[in-house]
Amino acid sequence: MTIIRSMITRSFSSAATIRSLRVCVVGSGPAGFYTAEKMLKAHEDAQIDIIDRLPTPFGLVRSGVAPDHPETKIVTNQFTRVAHNERCSFIGNVTLGSSVSLSELRQMYQVVVLAYGAESDRNLGIPGEDLRGVHSAREFVWWYNGHPDFCQLAPDLKNTDTAIVLGQGNVSLDVARILLKQPAELATTDIASHALAALKESSIRKVYLVGRRGPVQAACTAKELREILALKDLYVNIKQDDFQITAADEEEMKNSRIRKRVFDLLAKASLSSQTHPTSGQPELHFTFFRKPEKFLESNDRSGHVGGVSFEKTTLKGSAGSGSQIAVGTGKYEDLKCG
Ligand SMILES: Cc1cc2nc3c(=O)[nH]c(=O)nc-3n(C[C@H](O)[C@H](O)[C@H](O)COP(=O)(O)OP(=O)(O)OC[C@H]3O[C@@H](n4cnc5c(N)ncnc54)[C@H](O)[C@@H]3O)c2cc1C
Repeated sequence: MTIIRSMITRSFSSAATIRSLRVCVVGSGPAGFYTAEKMLKAHEDAQIDIIDRLPTPFGLVRSGVAPDHPETKIVTNQFTRVAHNERCSFIGNVTLGSSVSLSELRQMYQVVVLAYGAESDRNLGIPGEDLRGVHSAREFVWWYNGHPDFCQLAPDLKNTDTAIVLGQGNVSLDVARILLKQPAELATTDIASHALAALKESSIRKVYLVGRRGPVQAACTAKELREILALKDLYVNIKQDDFQITAADEEEMKNSRIRKRVFDLLAKASLSSQTHPTSGQPELHFTFFRKPEKFLESNDRSGHVGGVSFEKTTLKGSAGSGSQIAVGTGKYEDLKCG
């Protein structure tokens, strides 16, 4: 504690002018760096220390954004310029709450900005969530991005050919793409070497992306959807029955160009997909109108997940009252996975 405090004190006192505004930003992700950048511009006498619990800066730009999206990570050049400002310091390995307390920071600085992100998961609260092989996207993404908290995750990618991803937003698409992309293509990216080695040995070739609502409500954006649909040799399966849209769906699309674009891309992919995959071909299945009810244990009772039980859903509500919500129909379907 004393060492940390003296590190911080030395940092701001060495660079500080006599009358400076001493600022501590906790967290070195985009929120922290943009705050520091604006403060440096707005206050000529601001002296800023950015602290982070990790030894490395940039938060989820480093450990969230997909390794094959280098163009998104370019923003770190801008953050590096901020860190090079002589009135700004980055101090890694300092955790608010254990290395230093908020009251200590308040004594040392005139301004303390808390920009430490969101580092926990939202549980589904359904049975079987603690079975082995059920991972939050945060754990899995941190694993393939080399975040120190989850380098040891070692997800079992060898004893199954199927993964189920719950959700159809951009992070779900990232996860599905990393699982289905050719390892030779991943090798040229920023992916962690332990993850690349595991993915080279992976037997997973089938990924289900499951959403509670329909293709109009899929939460991804068109750019990311186009990218996954264009994966080499990919077989895409989307049931055409899911495209029977209602007046409320039409209304939702009228209100959102993004929703309309995503819907059109899914509809086109559904029409143009082959009838059956060829042997060994990577498969991506978009499954709509399914709400997870429970995770099922594998048949060998090993405590590992072996599938997911879903309740089929239908949509209620009108686009005018926000968006439509999924309600259960009392009909169920199980999907096997590892
Ligand atoms: C898988 C994934 C993919 C994404 N892809 C994109 C994308 O392509 N494009 C895009 O624009 N956005 C993307 N995002 C969203 C984007 O990464 C986040 O919105 C953004 O990083 C949030 O910034 P932040 O600064 O609030 O938090 P974070 O980036 O999470 O930064 C918080 C920092 O605080 C530190 N910290 C936490 N607790 C403490 C503590 N107690 N003491 C000290 N430090 C602490 C953490 O180590 C971290 O460095 C993605 C997110 C995820 C999860």
